[in-house]
Parts: sequence; C-alpha cells; structure tokens
Amino acid sequence: MPRHALRDGLRVEAGKRPHLGRTDPRDTLGLSGKDEAADVVARCSERLEALQSLLASEDRRSLLLVLQGMDASGKDGVARALCGAMNPMILRMAAFGVPTKPELRHDFLWRIARELPERGRVGLFNRSHYEDVLVVRVDGLVPEETWRPRYGQIARFEERLAETGTTVVKVMLHISRDEQLERLRERAQDPLKRWKFSADDLRKRDRWDAYMAAYEDAIEATGTEDAPWYVVPADRKWARNALVLEILTHVLEGMDLPEPPPPEGLPPGFLPGT
Ligand code: ADP
Repeated sequence: MPRHALRDGLRVEAGKRPHLGRTDPRDTLGLSGKDEAADVVARCSERLEALQSLLASEDRRSLLLVLQGMDASGKDGVARALCGAMNPMILRMAAFGVPTKPELRHDFLWRIARELPERGRVGLFNRSHYEDVLVVRVDGLVPEETWRPRYGQIARFEERLAETGTTVVKVMLHISRDEQLERLRERAQDPLKRWKFSADDLRKRDRWDAYMAAYEDAIEATGTEDAPWYVVPADRKWARNALVLEILTHVLEGMDLPEPPPPEGLPPGFLPGT
C-alpha cells in the first residue's frame, strides 16, 4: 500500500464524528513491523531536516501540532521522537497541565495564545486548549454553559490562526483501555518511570467512556479543512511514532515552502559565478 494511503486513513473528515470504539488502537495501517517503521522514521526525518530549514528561511508562516490523548497514550514519547528528528531551535514544545491561579484569571485560550509558535517555527502542544472540553467537561470543573460554547470558540480561534499564517493540525493518540492499564502498572512498578505516575490517572480510567464521548464531540465540532484531526492508533509505540512523523512531514510538504533566494548584498566573487 502506498504510504500516503496510510496517513490519509487517519485523517478525520471535516465535521465528521470518529467512532473511537470501532477504531482499533492496535492497527498499524499496513506497517509490517519495527523495521519498516524505522525506515519510515528515517525517511521522514531526512525530509523534515529540509522542510524545517525552508520554513525557517521563509520566516513567514508557522505550524502548530496539537497532541492529545489519554494518560500514557504516548504524548511524551511522540514529543521525544519529533524533538529528536528536528532542530530544537525550530520545533518547540509547550505542555499544558492544570491551570495555575493566574491562568484561571484569564479566558482558557489566554495561556494557549502565549505559547503559539512564532514565524518560521513549529509548535508542539503536549495537551492543549482541548483539555478545556475534555477533563474540564468530564470532571464537571465548569458548568455546561461554560464548556459547551468552547467548541465554537476553539474553532474560531483555530480559523483565525489558519488565516494569519499558522497551519494547525491536531492528533489524537488513540490507546486502548487495556494497554493503558499495562503502561500505568509499569509506571507504578518501575522506579525510573514512577515520576510519571499519578493515582489520579487511575481515577480517570473509570470515566473512560465519558472521555471517549468527549473526544468524539471535540473532534466532530472542531475538525475543519484548515485544522484537521488525525486519530492515530497508539497501542504500538513504533507505529504511532512513525505515523505522527509522517503526518508532520506531509503537513509541512503541503505548505509548499519555497526555496530561499541567495542572500542579498554579497560581495562579488563570494559565491561562485558571481
Ligand atoms: P501529563 O499527564 O500530560 O504527563 P501532568 O502530570 O502535568 O502531565 O498532568 C497534566 C494534567 O493536567 C492532566 O491530568 C490534565 O488533564 C490536566 N489539565 C490540563 N489542562 C487542564 C485544564 N485546562 N483544566 C484542568 N486540568 C487540566
């Protein structure tokens, strides 16, 4: 199967509701195993090396990649893979946890806007404004009349970003409840992984179905042509990383970044043939 067909299968059509219950988190989209995934990673990394340079040279537009997913779905692992493939000057990650008191004194998009990538850069959001219609909704942290309008507010916010030169792409890492249990257990057991463990994550597991419904609502309400969602099966780490790298590469390719002209003001003879 050609590569582009794999990635295309993960993209949720604008306005369409994904059926997470019917989407297999163990799917590898045709990747036969770790070796093939490693080839994809190598190929994408090479392309990303070039594409990020073109983005930085153009210095006009930026890209925002939003990563969402349940605890232990691999947001950190994907972030590590992307950071490893790109220049840390160009790809910058921001993580969003429980809002601080000052953040809570502003509207929910305030802290998000402060971390948006500048021109010529890629921003990677490890959690995002979507938490404000996920955990906030499921845990009932604000009343429905507050979270319900946020879908529209988010869609308009992202629409403006797209119009003003920030390409937005959103990825949900789709892990199964069983695989999550395995990973949380491992975190609790392994002293080197324990820093990531929180007993609160177990509590959130009890509301799995409510979270899946909240994800489906968010994806349906905010998926647009300009700011699409991808649902990436995340039970197999190697497939997950390869697929997200491929999505990022594809989105950057789609920006049609021009090759920069030679710099102006060079003394004659500095470049051959001048
Ligand atoms: P992670 O779990 O991503 O590795 P943390 O341990 O810092 O990182 O946890 C972040 C926590 O913050 C998550 O439980 C997440 O649901 C929560 N969170 C993020 N944004 C919000 C928000 N707007 N309101 C309430 N909780 C939030």
